[in-house]
Amino acid sequence: MRPLQCVCFNVLLQHGRHFLLLLLAVSPSLSSGNPASGRLTFTNGQFTLLQIADVHYGEAPDEAWGPEQDRKTDAAQFRLFDAVKPDLVVFSGDQVTGNNVQDALKATALEKAYAPAVNASLRWASVLGNHDDAALEGGTQEAAPALRRSLVEFERSAFGERGSFTCSTPGACPEMLAPGVSNYWLLLGDDRPRVLLWFLDSGGGSCPEQLPKPTMKWLAREAASLRATHGELPALTFVHIPPPEYLAARAAGGDSCLGLAEDAVTPTKGRNALVKTLEAAGGARAVFVGHDHGNAWCCPYSSLHLCFGRHSGYGGYGDWARGGRVVRLSLDPASKGGVAVRTWVHLEDGSVSDEQWL
Ligand SMILES: [Zn+2]
Repeated sequence: MRPLQCVCFNVLLQHGRHFLLLLLAVSPSLSSGNPASGRLTFTNGQFTLLQIADVHYGEAPDEAWGPEQDRKTDAAQFRLFDAVKPDLVVFSGDQVTGNNVQDALKATALEKAYAPAVNASLRWASVLGNHDDAALEGGTQEAAPALRRSLVEFERSAFGERGSFTCSTPGACPEMLAPGVSNYWLLLGDDRPRVLLWFLDSGGGSCPEQLPKPTMKWLAREAASLRATHGELPALTFVHIPPPEYLAARAAGGDSCLGLAEDAVTPTKGRNALVKTLEAAGGARAVFVGHDHGNAWCCPYSSLHLCFGRHSGYGGYGDWARGGRVVRLSLDPASKGGVAVRTWVHLEDGSVSDEQWL
């Protein structure tokens, strides 16, 4: 695979923390520059998303099985990309097992996670999980919020012109939501915006595992402003850790839940208002999470669906067959919000299951 070099990150490494803090001080949000790949538009009325969940690159770097595991994840990603041909890949967190990777090498592990998408000339958007910036096991340093932010800053500088839409819109990933970082939205459209995608940071690593109040307030504010400009748009939300509503959805869902349910739900901590905030914002259709590798279900809950992706990587716990969740959006005047949303799980071996409307 082509080695990817980033001058910016090398400079960061050479000049260390002070340079990083200076950089962050002059960039209150991470929205500078637009992806060269342009706008996200429908083709023949369709747009296909592929959620890649928990690839966990960088485990056991000094043992044979660690890099071998990453090569198997590369192959799994290529197979899924080739079969699904997504218009946008969503990396839903835990791209890297940070607790196995020294801080100075975490961005290199992130490069490896995105390399298959780069090599397949695909576009993507990402959120961070609880492992990406986790402190090295057995090390002396605690996870640092500046590192969490530097990973997203690195993604912007290394891939902002080569496929990454992460934090690419005006005001995206605002520093005021620190220690959370990957909080932003994207619009999909043709002649006008048709669908709104939310990306939220549920913490972990250097911050508490939660969707804190300031993030919900920011979401409500941004949603009101987008609605005033574009009207109510169908909205999909991507976040790493499931909010507690997933527990309630599973408990009440019964037969209306579809898909693999062989794992516990380990939700964000504290009071949570994600579903309430999304419903108040209008247009909410579904939330997609990762985190619990043995879950790949979707359950209806209140007025929307709560879904897991499918564990896509050979890193991280569990041996469930690897795959990805496909979400196909079709422009359809007869559907709610003018957009039909279909989802299914596509496994690495090519099999497809759990197809449903959202
Ligand atoms: Zn994970």
